[in-house]
Amino acid sequence: MAPRYPVELDACVEGWYARAETDAEGTLAALAADVERARASGTDIGAAHLNYGNVLLRLSKTAEALAQLAQAVEASRAEEDGVVEMHALMATAKTLTVTGDLPMALANFQEGLALARRAGDRYTEGLLLANLGFFHGRLREAAAYEEYTRLALERLREFDNRRAVVLCLNNLAGAVSWLGRFDEAMVFYDEALPIAVALGLKRGQALILGGLGGVLLRLARVDEGTQKYLESIALLREIGDAVLVTRHYMLLGESLVGAGRHADALPFLAEAVRGAEAGSFELELAMALELTSKASEATGDLRTALDALRRQVELEKAAIHRRSEEQIENLKLEHRLAAAKHDATARAARNAELEAVNAALRASLERQHVLQAELERLASTDVLTGLRNRRSVSDVVEREIARAARTGRSFAVLLADVDHFKRINDVHGHAVGDAVLVELAARFRATLRISDAVGRWGGEEFCVVVVEVDVAGAERAAERLRAAVAKRPFATAGGALPVTVSVGVAMFRGAGDTLARLLHAADEALYAAKGAGRDRWCLAPVDA
Ligand code: GH3
Ligand code: MG
Ligand code: MG
Repeated sequence: MAPRYPVELDACVEGWYARAETDAEGTLAALAADVERARASGTDIGAAHLNYGNVLLRLSKTAEALAQLAQAVEASRAEEDGVVEMHALMATAKTLTVTGDLPMALANFQEGLALARRAGDRYTEGLLLANLGFFHGRLREAAAYEEYTRLALERLREFDNRRAVVLCLNNLAGAVSWLGRFDEAMVFYDEALPIAVALGLKRGQALILGGLGGVLLRLARVDEGTQKYLESIALLREIGDAVLVTRHYMLLGESLVGAGRHADALPFLAEAVRGAEAGSFELELAMALELTSKASEATGDLRTALDALRRQVELEKAAIHRRSEEQIENLKLEHRLAAAKHDATARAARNAELEAVNAALRASLERQHVLQAELERLASTDVLTGLRNRRSVSDVVEREIARAARTGRSFAVLLADVDHFKRINDVHGHAVGDAVLVELAARFRATLRISDAVGRWGGEEFCVVVVEVDVAGAERAAERLRAAVAKRPFATAGGALPVTVSVGVAMFRGAGDTLARLLHAADEALYAAKGAGRDRWCLAPVDA
């Protein structure tokens, strides 16, 4: 016997949901058998399809749910069962909201709402309003989300469906916290939580705890908020809802990032990435990666930040491609269905959504370029002086070797080492020593031509590449470097310090010459300059 009253119908579906929570496969098999039985007996076919479709939706099997629900609508119309028809339209709209086919979802909601109002069915109207509210939530229209949900709550409080009330309270709390009214949100969550517990609604309880966690985090009650999220995640694990586990880890990570607790966010985001990968939850994966990138960047781990960002961009590119194909399919469908009311609004909403995704992707790509450039700069830069590091200046020498061999021109490699630098450190401390190195780097840079390169070779030793010079030019460059240091004392926190350098000069010998040979020769020349009394330069013998 099919339920004739909406509340009863709802209770019946609830029974199936409860069964499905512990035994999804068995429940689906029983529902399929029910459909067979109804078809064989020729009665209550719509209701059987509706139950089946609702449970499939609950289990996130959206495509199969849509097929069952289409049959529920068709059969209930043939059976002139208005109650089942309204619920089938509502379930269809809910499913389409989940799959993102918003125009069709809206058309189904409107149709269901019109039916409920004609029939004077305030209960189903309340349920439809609640779902319409959620639908607006999906469109990121927080004000409409709040308004519809408030109306729904008012209607549903008239009836004995505490589950629906919990749902509305939870959604309402979500809508107002979205609007920044966190204290108000807490009131709704606080009313909802004990009801969910009393009804044994673990999933509802988990959603409320997660919502509470988010609000607490936004109220800067970070540890309490984290705790609530973790309680929520434990419940979700218990009922095996992998999607929500992943999403809650992500939300927790997001809230912590929002609170500036980047390092704390990272392990939770890693859980979210792992969960999203395991379950192939693309949206969650993209978001978790974006947050991981942000948090890693904030903690200075640019390598991880860039890797995460790259993966996110790849995912989003694929998603946009799919979306535009879906959009074309939807447009075709709408064309065929004259019943697609309000499609202008809905299409605008969808276009806006698509535009937002595109803009986000563009922003993401730009950020990727910035990060990449920054990473490259850091990888080739000496942190203290901002000059090239040893690897980078070696690359320059290699490049010059190839170029000079090709053009037949010469160039020189110079090694400059601060004289008695140890004394500066010993007398004035390491910080003053560092300041001397920074000032020295600036003087070198200012002395050299733009096309010449200078890097920190290590410690208080610098490597300079002077391009397109003969021996006389290289000697002039060495003298300019020496003089730039010796000409006036260095102003430091330890007072004005006289500083000198010694320089070794090695000339490129033509094709076949190597980096190792050039540096060895420059080093020997430097050693000779030290031995000859420091504050001078020395040229490596050409045949050395
Ligand atoms: P010489 O004229 O023979 O080169 O004498 P020196 O004292 O400069 O020679 P040595 O190579 O023995 O000493 C170099 C010192 O430079 C030792 C080390 O503690 C210091 N040093 C190396 N890197 C840094 C740095 O980044 N900052 C500071 N403050 N000191 C450094
Ligand atoms: Mg040294
Ligand atoms: Mg030295």
